[in-house]
Amino acid sequence: MILRLDRLMCELPTPSNPDANAASAVQELLGGKYGEMSTLMNYTFQSFNFRGREKIRPYYDLIANIAAEEYGHIELVSYAINLLLTGTTKRGNDPSAAPLENAADAKNSYHFLASGQSALPMDSMGNWWNGSYVTATGNLKMDLLFNFHLECGARAGKMRAYEMTSDKTAREMIGFLLVRGGVHIVAYAKALEKLTGAEVGKLLPIPDLDNSKFPETRKHEEQGIHRILYRFSPEDYTRVGEIWNGTHPERGDKLEVRDGPPKGGPVPDLEAEPQLCAPLSADEMEMLKDVGKKMKVK
Ligand code: MN
Ligand code: MN
Repeated sequence: MILRLDRLMCELPTPSNPDANAASAVQELLGGKYGEMSTLMNYTFQSFNFRGREKIRPYYDLIANIAAEEYGHIELVSYAINLLLTGTTKRGNDPSAAPLENAADAKNSYHFLASGQSALPMDSMGNWWNGSYVTATGNLKMDLLFNFHLECGARAGKMRAYEMTSDKTAREMIGFLLVRGGVHIVAYAKALEKLTGAEVGKLLPIPDLDNSKFPETRKHEEQGIHRILYRFSPEDYTRVGEIWNGTHPERGDKLEVRDGPPKGGPVPDLEAEPQLCAPLSADEMEMLKDVGKKMKVK
């Protein structure tokens, strides 16, 4: 089972310039081959399918626990997309004024035709995410190697998306996820090292570009977020500390398991887009504006 919290893993600013094409680029980090939906579903299926776990419990705990964090990552990327899309069309109730005119020039028209100006499970080119991105071979070494590769590919994708947009919301989200993805890369490297003796940490960083090149990572690293593995469960996955211990291979600072999720930030409540009838038309919204009051009255 999974518990859900109505919080984002970090605070996201409101974009100064809504940008549908920046939102399309960010879609790669959600539903691309190396996106957050892939990391979430890879670790989720690997954890469901983990055989003989009692004998090698710390590896199971690590994969299952990181899977839970990835849910928070798809949520964060989705809200960055939603924030970027908010305000990209003319808000209103009159279809004859062509309020969606701008959408015709947007790279991804599904944001306007198939959703209420919001995130979709697809990549930057509009290809739907699919289950073939999941690798759960059942062989622990192969799966951990794949996870290490997947996190490095996710990191490269984030860096390139960062270079595609100077929007502060996108960059804030990417900065935070570069730091958290760095934790996962080190975690899978450590898991492989403990399992095989191979010094995987010597390969880092992949790509050869330090987080310090991305100013948005700084405040998170100052808080030590690059050396903390959150334990995303009230009582379970307690043996992650048997893998997440010692020092950071690049930075040398002490690794720590923290019980419970980070405090994070509020979930943005975005304005209605009546030109898309999202969630309802302007007339219906007006009619229902005191819905809370009405629901309490029998
Ligand atoms: Mn992630
Ligand atoms: Mn990750």
